Amino acid sequence: MPRDRIRPARTLRSPGALADAGLLPDDGRLPALEAVARRFAVAVTPAVAELVDPTDPADPVARQFLPDPAELETRPEELADPIGDAPFSPVKGIVHRYRDRVLLKPVHTCPVYCRFCFRREMVGPGAETLDGADLDAALDYIAARPEIWEVILTGGDPLILSPRRLAEIVARLDAIPHVGIVRLHSRVPVVDPERVTAELVAALRGRRLTTWVMLHANHWKELTEEARAAIARLVDAGIPMLSQSVLLKGVNDDVETLARTFRALVAARVKPHYLHQGDLAKGTAHFRTTVAEGQALMRALRGDVSGLCQPTYVLDIPGGHGKVPLTPTHAEPDGAGGWTVTDPRGGRHPYRG
Ligand SMILES: *Cc1c(COP(=O)(O)O)cnc(C)c1O
Ligand code: SF4
Repeated sequence: MPRDRIRPARTLRSPGALADAGLLPDDGRLPALEAVARRFAVAVTPAVAELVDPTDPADPVARQFLPDPAELETRPEELADPIGDAPFSPVKGIVHRYRDRVLLKPVHTCPVYCRFCFRREMVGPGAETLDGADLDAALDYIAARPEIWEVILTGGDPLILSPRRLAEIVARLDAIPHVGIVRLHSRVPVVDPERVTAELVAALRGRRLTTWVMLHANHWKELTEEARAAIARLVDAGIPMLSQSVLLKGVNDDVETLARTFRALVAARVKPHYLHQGDLAKGTAHFRTTVAEGQALMRALRGDVSGLCQPTYVLDIPGGHGKVPLTPTHAEPDGAGGWTVTDPRGGRHPYRG
């Protein structure tokens, strides 16, 4: 390690606390950062603080978690609800956009707040948590619809809940016969690995249904020894893991970083599943790449990097129209009933079929 790492005793929740911990350069930006923090929640866990290198202005961990004055700049195309959850929320805490699966959001807090978060207007310390009656109504909604095969616990970050609360939710879903899968979307194994205790892992497993965990991780630096140990506790318990990453300018928008990140995930037994085009959340333009850049990166990964390390590049269409692949096309009709197929090196080949 290039320097002594800073590991604060607890989560840092304000620009002042970040500055006191030595994580912010002393460059007079504090008032602007305080204005950012009044608009969007700030939290940096001890594990993340320890990863930040304050001497590196391009540090990919700092860029993801430390507030930046650029967040106060919003663009006309940016939206408060960029992926359109609200129109598909029939009861509090449920988003039902696709027939066979629903999101269930029991909590709207997270152990860290990502500066590019797509739900940044909905998450934070003051945000709503489902109370007992709300949770009953959400579970009734699921129980009344036999087409719902999968329930995705998200938020916020559901692994911020206590093992007792998680065990209760999983047990109640387990009691609904048509629910076959519970999937948890979480950043906890990388940003707060010590939360992944044996008790928490046990709480996630149903008697009957199958539990999957989808990890949000964007850079190989996040996969520390502690994070890999937390992931191993989940996978060793028989919980398969996938990952989703967000394509972020200045964090992972180059082929070497993506390849190293996906390889680190696969080595940790996490299958890279989605690479998201950055959503149009407010104050996040400094993180967004173009679709053309994303497609060029996916083309460059294909061929030279193992197929295990190839997530699907996806866009959540603004307005709630759903997720669709932005995969670069490798086959075009040749106009004579066949296809012209482009190989990973750019060579073009006729294909009949
Ligand atoms: C992203 C999302 C899902 C999950 O989609 P998958 O393609 O199955 O990962 C489910 N419901 C909603 C509302 C979503 O936004
Ligand atoms: S963990 Fe997810 S929900 Fe929480 S701030 Fe990050 S992107 Fe948003």
